[in-house]
Amino acid sequence: MAAAEERRGEAFRLLPGVDEASRLDSIAPLVEGAEAERELVLGLVRGILEEWRAEIVAGQLDAETLAGRLEGGELARGVASRLARERGGGLWRVVNATGVVLHTGLGRAPVHPEVASAMARAAVGYCVLEVDRFSGARNERDAHLGTLLERLTGAEAGIAVNNNAGAVLLCLQTFAAGRAAVVSRGELVEIGGSFRVPEIMARAGVSLREVGTTNRTRAADYERAAGDGAGLLMKVHTSNYRVVGFTGEVDPAELAEIGRSSGTTTAFDLGSGLLEAAGSAPLDMLGAEPLVRDAVASGIDVVTFSGDKLLGGPQAGLLVGRRAVIDALRRNPIYRALRCDKVTLAGLEATLELYLAGRADELPARRLLRASAAELEPVAARVARFVAALEGFEAEVVPGRSQPGSGSAPGVFLDTPVVCVRHTERSPDELAAALRAGDPPVFARIHDERLHLDPRALLEGDEERLATAFELLASG
Ligand SMILES: *Cc1c(COP(=O)(O)O)cnc(C)c1O
Repeated sequence: MAAAEERRGEAFRLLPGVDEASRLDSIAPLVEGAEAERELVLGLVRGILEEWRAEIVAGQLDAETLAGRLEGGELARGVASRLARERGGGLWRVVNATGVVLHTGLGRAPVHPEVASAMARAAVGYCVLEVDRFSGARNERDAHLGTLLERLTGAEAGIAVNNNAGAVLLCLQTFAAGRAAVVSRGELVEIGGSFRVPEIMARAGVSLREVGTTNRTRAADYERAAGDGAGLLMKVHTSNYRVVGFTGEVDPAELAEIGRSSGTTTAFDLGSGLLEAAGSAPLDMLGAEPLVRDAVASGIDVVTFSGDKLLGGPQAGLLVGRRAVIDALRRNPIYRALRCDKVTLAGLEATLELYLAGRADELPARRLLRASAAELEPVAARVARFVAALEGFEAEVVPGRSQPGSGSAPGVFLDTPVVCVRHTERSPDELAAALRAGDPPVFARIHDERLHLDPRALLEGDEERLATAFELLASG
């Protein structure tokens, strides 16, 4: 016992304080920078010393080992690697080789370069956000956006909020706070664990009334619930799963009719929000993804969808529908807390202008989703060629399938030739981790215990970035 205490004391005496450590030859140059940088480095030094102290307390670190660590420069190495991690944080540009075009983890739809320019223009300067340029009078910030939405969807009015979850929250809170919202059991979707309709309802002060069974819901189920004083009848597009087999759901027109005859507001959360694009090819490879225009035409009072899924614009939640309903949403103080900033609005306007100009085909998300296996074949072949030329690597093109992502078009897989990569020594997981931590970072896919590089979501310049990342990987 006493001997253990003695050994511990010896190690403690050897453990430097933060000040002392910061004067070590290996650490001193790191703390010479600006004040904030110095604080960061000292914090990292303190963190490592505290971990070592805890090891001493636990009897896992003796004086001899500690001396070895200090002499071997382990403290400096620890600080350097943590510093690299700290600096590597934030929104780095990455290469998306997962094939998932609308990858929520990687930022969903990349915007069109012209849209990006419009967003940059709004960001660096002033803009007529809430003033009418001609009359000088106060104006709504999304008034012009509303006009564009009306033209594209056939709705009487439209507004935008921060994201579609916000749009749904606004609908629930406006029409069903303190009352019930009726949703089919088959449509109680859970998207990526973070968007649960029942939880959003609870927070919005709305009680949830589930009707029907998981696979079948009938009109009478909604009628009964509406007769009971419900505030909102809601339909949710089951965008990340599909109920198959013996199923039945109430179609939007039928729900709209129940709403009208019972005097209850109706809402349809479309999730993805596929806009009809005049003059461009349909995205029919996505299967039966509902069109916003059709949802509006069904007579539903308000239709909600995301800006950064199939629409292909910046993150936003769009609400279109009857004017009186949109006005009520706008008057809700919650709208003020959910509204979009000028940069997003500029991006949304520019995206919708591309649709109106018949140029929707140019939107990166739509272009990537539509690319055929034959078009992607040469890209995969080029990638396989440069990877295979590197020391220790093998690569071949194999048939694969990409998913659209973001729960858009459930059960839809797009045929894509993918590059299957092998390394003589490193496992697929090791390769994937090294690629993510590399420069530029690359996100690949692991499939059947193999590393796959899927060319579907590669953007302009990404082939070169991929080559740079692999050269670094091969040399490191
Ligand atoms: C994605 C999705 C949402 C959430 O949209 P965000 O824009 O991510 O907030 C809501 N409802 C459905 C049906 C969705 O697919």
